[in-house]
Amino acid sequence: MADRRRYSFYRGLFTGDVLNFSKRSPFVKEIMFERIYPTKIILPMKMHSGVPAVPAVEVGDYVRVGQCVGVPEKGTFSVPVHTGVSGKVTDISDIRLPNGILTPSVTIKNDMKRTRLDSIRPRSGFKLSAQESIGIIRDAGICGMGGEGLPTAAKLKRARTEVVRDFLVNCLQSEPYSTSDLVAITEYPDYVVLGSCACARVVGASKCVFLISENRTEQRRSLQNSIDKIRADFKDLEFEIKLFRERFPQGYYRLVARAIYGKNLALGETLEKSCRAVLFNCSTMLACWEALSDNIPMMSRIISVTGDASGGHNMLVPIGTPVSEVLSNVQDINNGSYRLIWGNCLTGIEIRNPENTPIVKTTSVISVVRKAEVPRTPCIHCGLCSECCPMNLSPNTIYEMLNQGLRQKASEEGARECIACGSCSYVCPAGINLTTAIASFAGEGRIIEINSLLDNSSAEEMSVEELTPSYVGETSLLENYTEEDEGSSKKSPDSITLPFEKDKEV
Ligand code: SF4
Ligand code: SF4
Repeated sequence: MADRRRYSFYRGLFTGDVLNFSKRSPFVKEIMFERIYPTKIILPMKMHSGVPAVPAVEVGDYVRVGQCVGVPEKGTFSVPVHTGVSGKVTDISDIRLPNGILTPSVTIKNDMKRTRLDSIRPRSGFKLSAQESIGIIRDAGICGMGGEGLPTAAKLKRARTEVVRDFLVNCLQSEPYSTSDLVAITEYPDYVVLGSCACARVVGASKCVFLISENRTEQRRSLQNSIDKIRADFKDLEFEIKLFRERFPQGYYRLVARAIYGKNLALGETLEKSCRAVLFNCSTMLACWEALSDNIPMMSRIISVTGDASGGHNMLVPIGTPVSEVLSNVQDINNGSYRLIWGNCLTGIEIRNPENTPIVKTTSVISVVRKAEVPRTPCIHCGLCSECCPMNLSPNTIYEMLNQGLRQKASEEGARECIACGSCSYVCPAGINLTTAIASFAGEGRIIEINSLLDNSSAEEMSVEELTPSYVGETSLLENYTEEDEGSSKKSPDSITLPFEKDKEV
């Protein structure tokens, strides 16, 4: 029987139509999907959780689309970086990203010829083992595109070790204004579904579950059509679409655990261990299938450029495109003063230097919002911040404790549970920036999460060293797998079959 439930968690933010223009019916049909070809790209070596990659090119080198320009140092927890344009390397120097990270970056002047590596071509009719699939995803430089950028290969590896049952695909994009994930589903539903099925097989899950807001009718239909098309090729997998009520921040893994499994995960507890499930973003699944099927590394992504000071746009941009070049393609930014936010308008960070701020692997939206002057007053104890906090915290109490230096007490009050969703600051009528104070205190907790991933990845048969690509040069890194796949997949005890389109020619 069909699951008629609507899943959700308590509290959170209901932005309704005020912040969610994509729900207005005419807009959905008017989404413009544009492709941007920038004059240059700036590729930071650190766009993910973990150690920065190391530049693998020199100033003056000519690079082609898909080429690896940054490699992880052997033995480090990192992912490679690839270029999405062809042209000359003009600079290698440190840049500071809006989040404060100082990272080496490779600047490439686009020759607009889009000369690509020969190795970027569809893979045709062969089988891949789970291990090989993880290797391809690792070498494609894929990291989580919806959050902190955890290396996808390491997360798959951990899920495989934990023997998960449910493979959850996060199609819940609930941030105000953003629709980039939804456009990924509408434009490439087969890739999202096939990537999810492939990764579900890699981790050994028996069920592939797509989580989506009940309001996203068009995307639900797209997913359902794609599932119906490929169901026969994945008979070992059960499929389900779970509908969620719309509220922010719906897609965070601890809130998903609460909504679906009724479990309150403690900080550091994982979905894999506690719920036998793993959660991946739908755009990440699209990137995985591009790597597995077409040999395309992670070198471009869909972003939204939107806010109350601009119209709604979704664009496919090479990773590394400067924000200034993105904006030069948008004509409808309102005159007057606006703020540029790297990320969504609740949790993003203000961009001070758009010429030197690139789109990175985790950037799903550039928000263009009006400068609102909220008069700052002392707390009026209205309780709104507590009412909306999805982690059931009392942000005003914690804020006061931190202001008085009572860190231990703030910790006991649950401050480390904060997920930096920004809801409390958004609703506060006194204009108090609660989020910055509480989230930066809680930030140390995030390290626990990354460390647990690292520990689990290294504990099993594929070590951190093996999670690091070991070859550089004029390759996309992916082509090395084409030589060994046929033979090794037959031998491999963990052999799986990923069906490719039968008439796809290399
Ligand atoms: S305290 Fe943290 S989790 Fe709670 S609403 Fe504020 S930012 Fe979100
Ligand atoms: S929302 Fe702002 S004013 Fe209201 S209780 Fe929280 S901190 Fe105080």
